Amino acid sequence: MKILIVDDSSFMRKILKDLLTAKGHTLTEAENGAEALQKFASEKPDLILLDIIMPEVNGIEVLKKIGKQAKIVVISAVGQEKMVEEARQLGALDYIVKPFDNDKVLEVITTVLKPQG
Ligand SMILES: [Mg+2]
Repeated sequence: MKILIVDDSSFMRKILKDLLTAKGHTLTEAENGAEALQKFASEKPDLILLDIIMPEVNGIEVLKKIGKQAKIVVISAVGQEKMVEEARQLGALDYIVKPFDNDKVLEVITTVLKPQG
């Protein structure tokens, strides 16, 4: 599957990229929300892993634009219930709080990429 990693931290992008490449996924990256919207249009990823706190265009703004058309899982250090709830209402399929457990990320991805009955 093609997965778009959106995070302003290159270190975080590398961790996710290494984890998912090892599982056979194809990865593409964006370092802010504006770039994420461009890559969603040009690369048509099967799934987007989305950070919330980013310069320029943040993750909430990305969700407002494409949250209902894309499969999006939020991976953010912000764990407040209010933020989780807002992200879900905007279309996020799941919400993982950093620092995350690798197995948790893989489990969530497997679940959301499962073909719908
Ligand atoms: Mg960030």
